[in-house]
Amino acid sequence: MKYALISDIHGNLEALEAVLEAIASRPVDGYICLGDIVGYGANPRECLERVRGLNPIAVTGNHDAAACDRTDIGYFSEQARAAALWTREQLTLSERGYLASLPLRAEAEGLSLVHSSLNEPEKWHYILSQFEALPTFNLLSGKACFIGHSHVPVVFEEKEGRVTTHPPGMVMKKDARYVINVGSVGQPRDGDPRAAFSLWDSESGSVAVIRVEYEIKPAQEKILQAGLPAMLAYRLSVGQ
Ligand code: ZN
Repeated sequence: MKYALISDIHGNLEALEAVLEAIASRPVDGYICLGDIVGYGANPRECLERVRGLNPIAVTGNHDAAACDRTDIGYFSEQARAAALWTREQLTLSERGYLASLPLRAEAEGLSLVHSSLNEPEKWHYILSQFEALPTFNLLSGKACFIGHSHVPVVFEEKEGRVTTHPPGMVMKKDARYVINVGSVGQPRDGDPRAAFSLWDSESGSVAVIRVEYEIKPAQEKILQAGLPAMLAYRLSVGQ
């Protein structure tokens, strides 16, 4: 089976549509969404509708949980909190209900799916280094765990108890296990402003990260028009 993995869309409709168009030209059997469909961007409802239409295997992200009042936003940055409160106001009861129904963890063909980390997923830990990946490897029962949350596509590989960090894109080795960040559709933070998603072939074990150009300007203008913090528009141009 071939899967398209999308994560951290963050209400950025322009980025999501460009990604879905790029996926449409490829043979894909199913979709996986690793959370944060909403939050930051100006089109949370439209993004929710598109993602629900894909019928994905999906997990919740911290911004999805914030939008349906399912997580404490006290630790959010000021800009994230402003965006979360704005997003909550935009959504209908049924949209908040869908977000509230998303689990913290899921599985696809024996691999784990989680937004943040397998340990305490409700606490939204970031996995930015091989050391931060260790607790997730300790809880991993299958071959790999796909994650989102940091908006930085990266591969952590564990072999004989040793974890190493690799750039995205690889074929899984027989004698190793993996924690794989699939990249962010709507707010990349690796210095490349292009939207990112991943393709996973469960037979060959290959995982590729694809980057897609999209119309950043209209997404930025809508953020400003909505009265959301200007920084949330600016960061899209620089991929941070
Ligand atoms: Zn996110």
